[in-house]
Amino acid sequence: MFISLEGGDGAGKSTAITLLEKRITEQGLPVLVTREPGGVDIAEQIREVILNRANTKMDGRTEALLYAAARRQHLVEKVIPALEQGKIVLCDRFIDSSLAYQGVARGLPTDEIFAINQFAIEDRMPDLTFYLDVSPEVGLARIEANSNREKNRLDLEKVSFHNRVREGYELLIDKFPERIVRINADQPIEQVVDEMLSIVQEKIKK
Ligand code: C5P
Repeated sequence: MFISLEGGDGAGKSTAITLLEKRITEQGLPVLVTREPGGVDIAEQIREVILNRANTKMDGRTEALLYAAARRQHLVEKVIPALEQGKIVLCDRFIDSSLAYQGVARGLPTDEIFAINQFAIEDRMPDLTFYLDVSPEVGLARIEANSNREKNRLDLEKVSFHNRVREGYELLIDKFPERIVRINADQPIEQVVDEMLSIVQEKIKK
């Protein structure tokens, strides 16, 4: 089963994914945790180019193409082989990030973003997507308070940008109501993980 985690910056995806991995493993199920952009060498190199704070000249379409390229490499090299081995793949970000960030927030046409990603993923959409929803104010305050987090180019964006990202995710929930489940990420992390686990268990039963 292919599961993606989505959310604005500071939503707590990486903590949630680690805890969810532990809970799924305790159930005796095989699981692989990975992230985008990155997850394999070539995609990690692309990540470095995209997020490097020195790359302030990055054009929006260049950025969108780089994300799609990193996604492709990661998908074929890591995600698909793990799915073929019967693993539950928990992927921190996937195509919805491109639609929300490069599409809605950066103002690029979402149908074109979808098209370049379709080229990259060849219909391999997640079976289930958790959207960890938190207001940008709360998310950005968490980032501010977390001194361990590596700073990236996106930290230079204003709250208005992050509000547009959130609007983007709202549109995606309307568009893919069967696939995307919204989780309130402004509650204790244990509760966030409990909710996710019970939805995964339901999905496995079906
Ligand atoms: O999820 P993570 O914090 O690793 O993402 C790294 C950065 O890349 C974040 O600041 C996120 O906002 C940004 N990003 C983006 N467009 C994407 C995916 C991630 O701007 N499609």
